[in-house]
Amino acid sequence: MNVFIVHAHAEPRSFNGALFQSAQEVLRAAGHTVSVSDLYAMKFNPVSDRRNFTTVKNPDFFKQQIEEMHATEVGGFAPDVEAELRKMEACDLMIWQFPLWWFGLPGILKGWADRVFAMGRTYGGERFYENGVFKGKRALLSVTTGGPEAVYQKGGWNGDIHAILRPIQRGILRFTGWEVLAPQLVYAPVRVTVEEREIALKAWAARLKSIGQEQPIEVGEY
Ligand SMILES: Cc1cc2nc3c(=O)[nH]c(=O)nc-3n(C[C@H](O)[C@H](O)[C@H](O)COP(=O)(O)OP(=O)(O)OC[C@H]3O[C@@H](n4cnc5c(N)ncnc54)[C@H](O)[C@@H]3O)c2cc1C
Repeated sequence: MNVFIVHAHAEPRSFNGALFQSAQEVLRAAGHTVSVSDLYAMKFNPVSDRRNFTTVKNPDFFKQQIEEMHATEVGGFAPDVEAELRKMEACDLMIWQFPLWWFGLPGILKGWADRVFAMGRTYGGERFYENGVFKGKRALLSVTTGGPEAVYQKGGWNGDIHAILRPIQRGILRFTGWEVLAPQLVYAPVRVTVEEREIALKAWAARLKSIGQEQPIEVGEY
């Protein structure tokens, strides 16, 4: 497989950094091709505006989706956006490695999605959900939290982690056609022992060795 990993943590020695490094090593050792976007290391600009484009459809009024459709027609995406689009389009499996921030994506990853998931190129027309542009490709969220597993149960203190991830898994990934694999969840790596963190790293590595055989999950509706 061609696997594309998007990483959103500013500290290479973080636990997210360890999960990111481990994934690359394991997947390459298993014979997969791996491409990465290490967003902080790349200093990826997460602000979505006219800088997404080299072309202009309407110079008087900026409407992002109109410019996206125009850029799709004429090849007018800025080089940083185009490079990310090509990595997504080339992959069979996309992994997002990130810490949960405010029940959602860190800003740099949300901004990456805002800029890269462009209308025309990644969705639109009749191409949504099961007929989406990325039909046949798989995506997986690898997430760490601050809170322990007990607080991420349905009815619990923070509520169901799967409901928290639904806006990402349904609203971005399924919406554009990706089949979603079960999220990889490491709860509260800050609070556990070194040994427990090592077990979590080994579990991730073990899962990745046979990731090609996994079946997608139902991400749920609202
Ligand atoms: C803006 C913001 C919003 C947040 N919102 C939420 C929220 O909504 N919900 C929530 O639950 N949490 C939230 N958090 C907390 C956040 O999700 C956690 O702090 C984060 O997920 C922990 O992951 P990390 O990679 O940063 O951990 P780190 O602190 O980097 O790592 C934990 C420990 O693992 C160690 N480690 C690194 N590499 C290895 C290795 N190879 N083997 C063993 N140990 C290793 C590190 O040295 C460290 O001691 C928020 C945090 C911020 C800053």
